[in-house]
Amino acid sequence: MPISEVFSRYVYDSRGNPTVEVEVTTETGMYRAIVPSGASTGIHEALELRDGGQAWGGKGVLNAVSNVNDIIGPALIKENFDIKDQKAVDEFMIKLDGTPNKSLLGANAILGVSLAIAKAAAGEKKIPLYAHIAYLAGSKHAVVLPVPFLNVLNGGAHAGGHLAIQEFMIAPVGATSFHQAMQMGSEVYHILKRLAMTRYGQSAGNVGDEGGVAPDLTTPQEALDLICDSIEEAGYAGKIKIGIDSASSEFFKDGKYDMDFKNPHSDPSQWLTGEQLAELYINLVQSYPIILLEDPFAEDDWAAWSYFYGKVDTQIVADDLTVTNPIRIQRAIDCKAADTLLVKLNQIGTLSETIEAANMAFKAGWNVFVSHRSGETEDTTIADLAVGLQAGQIKTGAPSRSERLAKLNQLLRIEQEIGDKAIYAGINYRSSLNL
Ligand code: PEP
Ligand code: MG
Repeated sequence: MPISEVFSRYVYDSRGNPTVEVEVTTETGMYRAIVPSGASTGIHEALELRDGGQAWGGKGVLNAVSNVNDIIGPALIKENFDIKDQKAVDEFMIKLDGTPNKSLLGANAILGVSLAIAKAAAGEKKIPLYAHIAYLAGSKHAVVLPVPFLNVLNGGAHAGGHLAIQEFMIAPVGATSFHQAMQMGSEVYHILKRLAMTRYGQSAGNVGDEGGVAPDLTTPQEALDLICDSIEEAGYAGKIKIGIDSASSEFFKDGKYDMDFKNPHSDPSQWLTGEQLAELYINLVQSYPIILLEDPFAEDDWAAWSYFYGKVDTQIVADDLTVTNPIRIQRAIDCKAADTLLVKLNQIGTLSETIEAANMAFKAGWNVFVSHRSGETEDTTIADLAVGLQAGQIKTGAPSRSERLAKLNQLLRIEQEIGDKAIYAGINYRSSLNL
């Protein structure tokens, strides 16, 4: 079915910054996608085109919007693509841009179109988006609901306060269904909020960019104690485990890791070497039920990644290191840096390349962890992506704030729609392809 119209406008994301929205219209209707935006963005990501200048503090997306309306849209309509051929559409846009990092048209412009096209194709086929993505990805069993890694305590670039580590996630691996996992997560979240306020004062219950509480803590142990006590009080000890995203590129300075990076007077003599930071992680993994460590080292500190990998049994996730980019993923596979790929659509800029990245990871025996960005919207594509890829794990913030719940609620809908055939990844989150 041909495209009759491609239209873009700017709307606002959860941090109040402009972002690109794209509407693709075909005979079956209008299909809309909105592009997210990171804060702890990896330097190797595809380029998010921002206008610069005074308006919106430089964060305007008027150029990206007009690139869709004036260049990409007319060119796509002229080519008369079969929109079900996502790869042909995405490859066409990649060529139209012509740069290695989509810096001419903007990855935000290209991704908006790519996702709206996928939704239009699912509409044409009269199947859910996750089923269409499963077809595109060649997934065999698109009935697996992912474990939600709920980011209940925010630090780093996503919150005020001094905590260097960006994300503390709870993972209800011991649930038997997605909706039960959400109930467990929600209960723990509310206890955590109360405990944080009791221990650290009223303002400790304020939330960060991803809806988690953001008490002004200094050590990861304080955060982990709060979370473990909340899990215990909720009665879920052993059933809910913990994941950490250090987002350590944010505090990598002069070859060392500054755990006090939000203090302008941080003492360089306290900064940790890669080996000292590895030691800290080993201690944390021995003391707390941690099952996932994301970006434990910085985006180009390859030696530290390889040194650490294999020292703990915990899943090691590459985000800024690999930026959903097949070239960097291959390098990470070759040097045994990690065993799990964080998948963010806007790091690479098209759905096809995202699927290629995920399949490459699976083929190497890695796991795939689908992710939102800290700047999000009501768009729910990543929920369908997680099911379509059979990823078995997703992170999309706390069970709080509608831009986070939009995805979690979509997964609740998908679970109901799949019905009796739905399988919650649960304790098999590391082997979702076998479910
Ligand atoms: C992350 O680092 O995994 C993340 C979601 O944060 P951001 O979107 O700010 O990069
Ligand atoms: Mg990350």
